[in-house]
This record gives sequence, C-alpha cells and structure tokens, in this order.
Amino acid sequence: MPLLYGASCSDMDEGYLITGFVSSVHALGRQRQVPLVSRKPNTPNFRPQRSARVVQRTHKLRGLRLCEGERLVKTDEKPAVQPDTQPLKPGDGKESPAPPSPPPPVETRGRRRTYLGLVWDRTLDTFEDALLHLRRQFFWQGEFLSSSGRPKPRLVILGTGWVGHAMVKIIDIDKYEVIVISPRNYFLFQPMLPSSALGIVEFRSCCEPILRANPFIIYYEAEAVGVDIQRRVVKCRAKVRRRGALSVGSESDVGAPSLAETSQDVHALQPRFSTKSNTDEIIGIREFEVPYTYCVVGVGSAVNTFNTPGAKENCFFLKEIPDARKIRSEVVRIFEEANLPETSDEERSRLLHFVVVGGGPTGVEFAGELHDFLVEDAVKYYKKLLKYVQVTLLQSGQSILTQFDKSLQDRALQNLRDAEINVRTGSRVVRITETEIYLQDGAVIPYGMCVWAAGVGPQKLVTDLIESIPAQTTFKKRQLVVDDWLRVIGAEGVFAAGDCATNLHEPLPATAQVAGQQGAYLARLLNREYCLDCDIPERTEYTRTWIDRARFAKPFQFLSFGLLAYIGRERAMAQIEMGDTSVKLSGTLTYLIWRSVYAVKQVSMRNRILITFDWIKAAIFGRDISQF
Ligand SMILES: Cc1cc2nc3c(=O)[nH]c(=O)nc-3n(C[C@H](O)[C@H](O)[C@H](O)COP(=O)(O)OP(=O)(O)OC[C@H]3O[C@@H](n4cnc5c(N)ncnc54)[C@H](O)[C@@H]3O)c2cc1C
Repeated sequence: MPLLYGASCSDMDEGYLITGFVSSVHALGRQRQVPLVSRKPNTPNFRPQRSARVVQRTHKLRGLRLCEGERLVKTDEKPAVQPDTQPLKPGDGKESPAPPSPPPPVETRGRRRTYLGLVWDRTLDTFEDALLHLRRQFFWQGEFLSSSGRPKPRLVILGTGWVGHAMVKIIDIDKYEVIVISPRNYFLFQPMLPSSALGIVEFRSCCEPILRANPFIIYYEAEAVGVDIQRRVVKCRAKVRRRGALSVGSESDVGAPSLAETSQDVHALQPRFSTKSNTDEIIGIREFEVPYTYCVVGVGSAVNTFNTPGAKENCFFLKEIPDARKIRSEVVRIFEEANLPETSDEERSRLLHFVVVGGGPTGVEFAGELHDFLVEDAVKYYKKLLKYVQVTLLQSGQSILTQFDKSLQDRALQNLRDAEINVRTGSRVVRITETEIYLQDGAVIPYGMCVWAAGVGPQKLVTDLIESIPAQTTFKKRQLVVDDWLRVIGAEGVFAAGDCATNLHEPLPATAQVAGQQGAYLARLLNREYCLDCDIPERTEYTRTWIDRARFAKPFQFLSFGLLAYIGRERAMAQIEMGDTSVKLSGTLTYLIWRSVYAVKQVSMRNRILITFDWIKAAIFGRDISQF
C-alpha cells in the first residue's frame, strides 16, 4: 500500500517538493512504496544536491533506499507523476493509488543484513545504557546544574508505564532534570495481569515503584489534565485523600474510587463492585502546573467498551492492579454465593457462567487461566459446584488471536474447545444487563461474571491534546501522530510513545514491546543531545565513540521479537520473528519458553525472583482463594 512519508529534511524547501515514488524496504523486510513530500515547503536556503544527499543518507539509516529515476522538482513544476498517483496528504482520508511502476525486487540477503544491523545497534545501545546506569548508581553526585553551570533542561514524562519506565531507567540525569507525573507510582507488567487476577502470581510481584527504577528523578502522584504547548506547561491535578495521601481524579470524583486504582474510563461507574473503605475518601483536589523544556506523553490507552450499553456498569476489566484484585475477589465470591444452601440450581448455573468478551491475547489468556483455576483449585474446594460451571468466550470477528498466524489461531481454538471453553466467534455483544448479555444475532446469555477484554481507546488527555493542536486534527486519528523520531507533529518539544502514539506511514501494534523500545529510544535521543528542532535531529559537536557514531539521529525502528500467548492447559503459542524468518511453536514446551521469557523480561531482579517464587508456591500449595 503506498503511504505518505514526510521528507523531514531541513534544507529541502523554498517551493520545492520531492516527488516520485520511492521504492523502499523496511528494515524488518516489509516491502512498500513511499511517495515523498516535504514537510516544510517554505523553508529558505534550499540546496537541492545536499537535500538529495541527506534524504539518501536518512533513507539508508532507515533501511530504505531511493528508487532510480527519482528527481527533485520545483513545486510550481508539474510533478512527473500521473494525476491519479498524487501522494496522500494528511487528512485526505483516502489512500494514494499504486505507483506507476512496480518496485525493483529486493534481495533477501540485504534485508537480513538490515535486521542483523538493527540487532547489533540495539546491542551497542544496551551496552551504553548499562554504562550510564552504573555511572549513575555509583558516581552521581546529585548535581542539579549542568556541567556548564546553567540549570538543566527539564524533561517531564507523563505516565509510569512501559514508556515512562524505560525512559527513567536510561535517561542521563546529568543532562536533564527529570519529572515524572502519573496517578500510579509504580510500573506495572500488564502481561502478568491475567495470572495475577486468578492468583498464580501476587499483585506486588508484577509492579516496580518508579522511584526504585531511578531514585534521582522527581515524581508527582497526579494526573496530567492538559498540556499547554504555547506556554510549555503541563497542567496537573492531584486528589487529596482523607489521611493526607495523594491520589488523582476530577472534582466530580470526590468521594468516588480513585483513578489510580481502577481502569481509566470506568472508575466512577462501578459502585456495585467497589471494595474501598472510607479511608480512601477524597477530600480535596490540588491543581498545579509544571513547566517543561521537553515533554514525553506516555499515558497509554483506556478501556474501550465501544459504547455498548451496560458494559461499563456490569463488566470487569483487566487493565490495572485493582481490576485484577476485584476479579480475584469476585470469582471466589461467586463460588461462595453459589455454595449457599438456599441458592437454586438455576441460579447456580447463571452465577457460575463466566463470560469473557474479546478473543485477543488478553481475553484468551484470561479464559485459559480461568480454566486452570477451575480444574486445579476449584475442583478441590467446590467439587460439587463444578457441574454448574461454564466458561464462554465471545468474539465479534470470525477468528481469535488475529495477530498470530492462521495455523496457530486454529491450534488455539482447538485447545480452548478441548478445555471445554465455549468459543463463540461472530458474536457481537450489543447490551449487557446485571444478569444477561444480549448478542447481535438475538441470543441472550445469562451470566454471573463478565470480563471485558475487547479493545482499547484513547485517554482523555490525548483526545484533548489532539483537539488543541491544529496539525493533529487534520490527521483524524485517535492517537497522537508522531514523526519518525517520535516528535508530536505540530507541538514543538513534545514527544509521544507507546499506545497513545502512532506514526502514519508505519503504524505499530499497541504492545509493551513497542512501548518499551520507544521509551528507551527517546531517552537515548535526549541523552545524545541532538538538535531536536531540526527536521532531522542532528549534532555538529560531539565525541565519536565506537558505540555512538551517528551525526544524524536514526529514526525509531521497531525490532520485533515475535508474539507469545498463554492459551490454558499449560500450553502456550509463540511466533518468533527474526527478520524474514518466522518460527511457530505451540504446546507444553512453548509454555516453558513463555514462562522463561516472562521471567527474564521482568524489569528488575526483585520482580524476577518474586515471580519465580510465586509460580513455585502456586505449584506446591495451589492458588490463594482468601477473600479480603
Ligand atoms: C491484561 C493485558 C495484557 C497485556 N499483555 C501484553 C503482552 O503479553 N505483550 C505485549 O506486548 N503487550 C501486552 N499488553 C499491552 C501492553 O501492556 C501495552 O501496550 C503497554 O502497557 C503500553 O505501554 P504504555 O507505556 O504506552 O502505557 P501503559 O503501560 O498503559 O502506561 C500508561 C501510564 O500512564 C499513566 N497515566 C494515565 N493517564 C495519565 C494522565 N492523564 N496523566 C499522567 N499519567 C497518566 C498510567 O497510570 C500509566 O502509568 C497487555 C495489556 C493488558 C491490559
């Protein structure tokens, strides 16, 4: 599919456009055709030859190359392309048609080398990060002035998720004053949430306090409610709790559960499930502003119920630790209620019908974990109730786990059916009441507990920010549109990464892998002190080292390691990617790989040890079913 690529070249301008399609090769081997247009047609001092060199160099950095026959033309010249092959402009709302001639074939060897080059780059980056980390750990003196004696530029990071955590681990605090603002004072390893919701791992084992990741940053427990890009300030709001501790939310939330403790867009709507005590009552709101030199928006995404009536009020979500805690309590509570002597058989069947909405990785993993809980632990404690238990997975599309290869999708489906999970594809939920789920095809499903795992939407902060930046509104996206260096288009000094950001010509999946890599990339971009206002971030004065050689900042490139998902019955699926090669695995051995990868990918040694002990504990003693 032809896509727009902002040429991003500082001296490519004064009425000039580069036209013509560029046949290009993505570093990971995806092939595409890219029409090239300048972002700044009116910039003075245009030097065509230099521009062409810079573009070629940039494309080389990106693993792309220019097509033969491409040329620079003035804007007032008629472009040398067919009228129906004009490049797509942001906000056009339509795709540009196919290029006039097919791109030349690409050698697999060349692509593989690019992939290995990327792996090598990352290895060097990691080495550099480790050196920085050690220097900070043992030699940092707590200097709040830069080496020149001037105050340091201030970097404000919004969010303590994958983006925020990766950044604070790597950022050079000798060069920046770092302020992190988030309603959650810890990093959460979301991939472990389905396991923690059913008691295999403890909640605290999947979290790391953000100040533990880097004790030299400043952290404010508050919600960012706006970013004023003209004044370069972040507007924040913090809730004051009865006991003086801080939490966050809006004025209308006073007296309601805190945003920090439930899924973002449903926090005020779940009185039915609220387990909070009076000590959490919010008694006041504090508002303040934080000026920034650079601001990184990494606020992730919110639960999306697609405005399905009754979903917010009656479903459980799986996004934050309190969500997982509520699910764990509710599963046990349902068994206890069904176990009461006066509960009728009909009521037992309804209560013990667990429904999961969404056939993506989160929904499938949760259904798999629920099955394991039933056959490994519920069978011991509630044996006589098991005949009433049913698990249903509803998926609106025709297949589950669509991110995976078709053969793996089929294996996952078979595994779930073997586990007696009723998988209903092509079943769109249209309404949910306290006791029934209504499907588009007219079916009505009585249920006891419904977990909604069917998609994510934008955070309010992101929606507001998009509306306040004219350039962003033209893209008509629900995420902040960033350029190849993760700079928010139309907002100087603002960067965005992770679930809340997208790049028009290379949209990436909303995953932890992408968010973590983008956070680390941004920290390195800032550490290396490129000119971030230049079209291509560049530095003229720097010391070349064997690790850090580049004068121009390389655009962000995602290095995919593949996909992993747990599918229940101690089986997992893996689609491991190495450049063009993809290895597909599934079964019990893959389950061991899944566990090893999750243990290794924990963000600290403490978490690795805690998770491993939790697994051992659950294997020996079973899941903890105490209700608090
Ligand atoms: C149950 C579950 C399982 C998953 N499993 C996987 C998996 O196996 N593999 C995978 O790759 N991905 C997985 N994901 C997706 C992955 O977790 C996300 O893609 C990733 O968390 C995105 O990182 P992020 O930094 O953009 O946002 P997040 O990690 O969501 O962090 C957002 C941060 O911003 C904070 N915040 C929110 N609003 C504001 C505000 N207004 N002001 C300041 N701070 C704010 C939040 O408190 C949070 O700290 C899973 C997600 C879930 C929910």
